[in-house]
Amino acid sequence: MSTELWYTERYEEHGAALSLKVREVLHREQSPYQRIEIFATESFGTLMTLDGLVMVTDRDNFLYHEMMSHPALFIHPAPRRVLIIGGGDCGTLREVLRHPEVEEAVMVELDERVTRVAERFFPLLCEKNHDRRAYFHFTDGIAWVQEAEAARYDVIIVDSTDPVGPAAGLFSTEFYRACYRALGEEGVLVGQSESPLLHADLIRQCQARMAEAGFGAVNSVYFPQFSYPSGWWSATLGRKGLDFDAFRDADARAFTGNRYYHADLHRAAQVAPAFLLPA
Ligand code: SAM
Repeated sequence: MSTELWYTERYEEHGAALSLKVREVLHREQSPYQRIEIFATESFGTLMTLDGLVMVTDRDNFLYHEMMSHPALFIHPAPRRVLIIGGGDCGTLREVLRHPEVEEAVMVELDERVTRVAERFFPLLCEKNHDRRAYFHFTDGIAWVQEAEAARYDVIIVDSTDPVGPAAGLFSTEFYRACYRALGEEGVLVGQSESPLLHADLIRQCQARMAEAGFGAVNSVYFPQFSYPSGWWSATLGRKGLDFDAFRDADARAFTGNRYYHADLHRAAQVAPAFLLPA
């Protein structure tokens, strides 16, 4: 009898699944919000799942975290005040704080346990948690943005779980309107928007809702992500300007140490596949 242990995330509605070979279950708990599990995998390092869905692996999280932060931060001419909604594993916070212009990065995560567990099992993602510019609030991000002062932030990053449960409202026009209000004149909003292959309608919906909320320019970036459904992911951006052509190209070229994002890729990642081009 085989004693092999595999973690499997089933995408029931698509008749598909992702499996990672597991060496050991490192941690399991039920927080007030979700089931948090940590596995040591054979070839993807440490894996975090929430309610059975992959959030982060050591091996491929750099793709997602770099693409959730650097395009938005280099589009903004001077990103000083950044708000991260969700992002409990702290990987996005780490990328944001690599930008010397950032004076304050506020992370608003619903579930403090996700962050505490990440501190224990993903120390590299949490290496900037004690940076003097990092501020943590463990509460609902929707209410946080609704109550924020107008023009309080330069960039808002929505690093959320899938659009169900407490994260569903993070994909609504009403929430995007609140973000628009909370952003300064040249503010940029970016939110994870799922798989182009499996959730094209959601990407179109995020784009349409951001435009409806007032953002003058709306576009998405596309990037590979092995451990998320279909291995292909997206983030959708709204800008309080008229287009995405202008970005701090020279600064992006001088920003070394990334494993995926770079200045030429900044442009390339915004090119949509034919099936997502506007009709
Ligand atoms: N990279 C991941 C992905 O796309 O699968 C997301 C990572 S991060 C761990 C997602 C976080 O969003 C979770 O820790 C969850 O608790 C948080 N979250 C969900 N809804 C939220 C809300 N309304 N306000 C703040 N945080 C929220």
